[in-house]
Amino acid sequence: MQIFHGKSVFGGIAIGKIKVYQKGRQQVKRIRVEDTDREQERYEEAKQEAVRQLKGLYDKAVKEVGEANAAIFEIHQMMLEDDDYNESVENIIHTQKVNAEYAVGMTSDNFSQMFSAMDDEYMRERAADVKDISERILSILNGSANTGVDSDEPVIILADDLAPSETVQLDKDKILSFVTVHGSVNSHTAILARTMGIPALIGTEMPLDETVDGKLTVVDGIKGCIYVEPDEETLSQMQEKQKKEAEKKELLKQLKGKENITLDGKRIMLYANIGNIKDLAMVIKNDAGGIGLFRSEFIYLEKEDFPTEEEQFQIYRTVAETMAGKRVIIRTLDIGADKQCDYFKLAHEENPAMGVRAIRICLTREDVFKTQLRALFRASAYGKIAIMYPMITSVWEVKRIQEIVSEVCAELDMQNIEYGNPEQGIMIETPAAVMVSDELAKHVDFFSIGTNDLTQYTLAVDRQNPKLDMFYDAHHPAVLRMIKMVVENAHQAGIWAGICGELGADTELTKDFLKMGVDELSVSPGSILPLRKIILETDTQKEEAE
Ligand code: PEP
Ligand code: MG
Repeated sequence: MQIFHGKSVFGGIAIGKIKVYQKGRQQVKRIRVEDTDREQERYEEAKQEAVRQLKGLYDKAVKEVGEANAAIFEIHQMMLEDDDYNESVENIIHTQKVNAEYAVGMTSDNFSQMFSAMDDEYMRERAADVKDISERILSILNGSANTGVDSDEPVIILADDLAPSETVQLDKDKILSFVTVHGSVNSHTAILARTMGIPALIGTEMPLDETVDGKLTVVDGIKGCIYVEPDEETLSQMQEKQKKEAEKKELLKQLKGKENITLDGKRIMLYANIGNIKDLAMVIKNDAGGIGLFRSEFIYLEKEDFPTEEEQFQIYRTVAETMAGKRVIIRTLDIGADKQCDYFKLAHEENPAMGVRAIRICLTREDVFKTQLRALFRASAYGKIAIMYPMITSVWEVKRIQEIVSEVCAELDMQNIEYGNPEQGIMIETPAAVMVSDELAKHVDFFSIGTNDLTQYTLAVDRQNPKLDMFYDAHHPAVLRMIKMVVENAHQAGIWAGICGELGADTELTKDFLKMGVDELSVSPGSILPLRKIILETDTQKEEAE
């Protein structure tokens, strides 16, 4: 047995034979030509055909992985129209009097080298895209079909790297997994792979030759291991692990597309928590009814300086558009405590969890808050965005937020900038907010209970301190009674209440929450379908036999 390691792009277990995927790298010969105009014409024709193919791939990818992930094929079309790229090809044809293939090959090498040398990671990843579009043109010029992977039995694909167009062309019925030597976790291929749900590893130092080709192999996408010719014990362990995964998948299949309605007819909103636009694929795959918590502070944490209004607007708009009319609750920044961001230059605090964090930063640094609100309001014209404010303790805070929101809207009006009418709610994650939730409910559109902080503040237990784990009891009756109280006060005022803290995914409590009248549960995407199963089996009117 040989064991290799890699970085997991998507979990799951695959067992099957390896097929080493050799790229159809085009052999490019330098041929001297007299009629350079004809070569230029051949290039133009090939380019048009490439655009046609990319349009086809785009349509296929939209159906398989959604618009956001299919966008790479639009980007490739745009790259084919890039003046620098085209001028380089034409220049080489005319000045060196050579064939179109050679000019494309040279341009591809030059441009991909240039991208690879850039500091910016995103730009470095574009080197693969340049190679991809160039290979496409070359295969058209050579009259060879753009190869997918053809194999009679399902296989584990092992490749040096896979271009996005190669990944989407794979016949998924024949692919058990893919493993690449290169590639990055953030590449479009990785995103596509995750959305397609194929166990995948990158960065594996495996030989692309007959020492592994055709050999029975296990890919453990959960642990990031590859076992070539596994021994009996490993194989049977992995088969067991795979069986469990298959059971989960089966559940997924049966429950996908179903509505979240209890036996007594109560409809529950089952939403997803995300921290990043990259999580959207999993949101869609797991059939979330919306996004219940987009932790927008991650946009700030990933940057070296404050994200601009425009940067934020683009992200919020993409999320809203991708979710296509489903509710997207974006929480305003919750910086501070465990989420420190250097450029905020927050002073050192003895007690950061009780310090300058979340809404307290927004209400004391209005410029930062207003930038985010402008981006959110503008984006709300493109989908069903709702805004949620964290760490609320008092009614005056909500009133002050409303004043600031009015100022932002007045400014947008003055500037003739379009914006929507987003719902606005608050997080209930402090005991104070629970106790005045009857009052708070009169001023907002919804409540979302942040049980992570609510537990820490109620039990006076630092959620960050692992030594206190035995005291951090989210099932504590104090916490559960608070949740009940919040839901009752919300309903009294005619608004809905949900849970977006980790407790929302705790299946031991789902029935209790439903009986309390919780209207929404927002959880990590992988927890959605197991929760749907419980919702479908629950009668909120019936006492359970102990
Ligand atoms: C919470 O406190 O429960 C919550 C959802 O917010 P965060 O975990 O981001 O503090
Ligand atoms: Mg919180």
